[in-house]
Parts: sequence; structure tokens; C-alpha cells
Amino acid sequence: MKILKIDHLGIAVSSIDEKKDFWTDVLGLELQGTETVEAQKVTTAFLPVGESEVELLESTSDDGPVAKYIEKRGEGVQHVAFRVENIEEALEELKAKGIPLIDQEPRIGAGGAKIAFLHPKATSGVLVELCERSS
Ligand code: ZN
Repeated sequence: MKILKIDHLGIAVSSIDEKKDFWTDVLGLELQGTETVEAQKVTTAFLPVGESEVELLESTSDDGPVAKYIEKRGEGVQHVAFRVENIEEALEELKAKGIPLIDQEPRIGAGGAKIAFLHPKATSGVLVELCERSS
């Protein structure tokens, strides 16, 4: 598989509104809008950092994956996303190597990207997302 770069870091927060000021006012990043992905019960806010982005994640529901993450481990880095050239090929390669996956097939995430998560038991506890975007 070909990994192009770290696409973004997904950071779980209790509230984008209440927590964004550190990222915008202190670090000087620009919040480029928010998007709710109902299928994943999450609202995301993207803040570009050079070639990558910080993605703040706020749960839209108490039983969403981000809410559960915060409940267990508190706010913090929830996943690391690598941009790949071809996500279908990457998933086939991982399956052939016996790597456990959360998503067997790509699904559509924020910004229309094709995304898939690997199971953290394969990655030293780090939730790894693969994503493929056209731009
Ligand atoms: Zn992500």
C-alpha cells in the first residue's frame, strides 16, 4: 500500500464550541467549518496544519463512538488517519496479512473521503484510520 501522509489527527472533545479556542486563539489554526456525520454520531471540525489537519470530534449522542471514548479514556487523541493512494487496495493488502479491521469495506466520512478503521488490537492500541480523498 502507498501511504501519502498523515492526513489528520482525530481529537475527541466534549464540545467543539467550548474547546476550540485553544486550537484557534492560542495555536492560531483556522477552523474551516464543521460537519455532522450522522452515521458515525459525530460532528467534526477541521483545522488545517500545513499538509495535515487537526480534526476535533464531538459526539452527537451519548452512545456514539466518540462519547464512549471520552467516557473510558477522557478527551484526547482518538485516532490517527493516514492518507492512502488507493483504499480498496490497502484494505485487501491488510486482509491478506491477517490484520483485523473494523471496516471491511470503505465508508464515506467527513468531507466525502473514503475511510476505513483498523482494529486497535493490531496497532499497539492506536486507532488507525485510512482515508482516500480526491484532493
Ligand atoms: Zn478521522
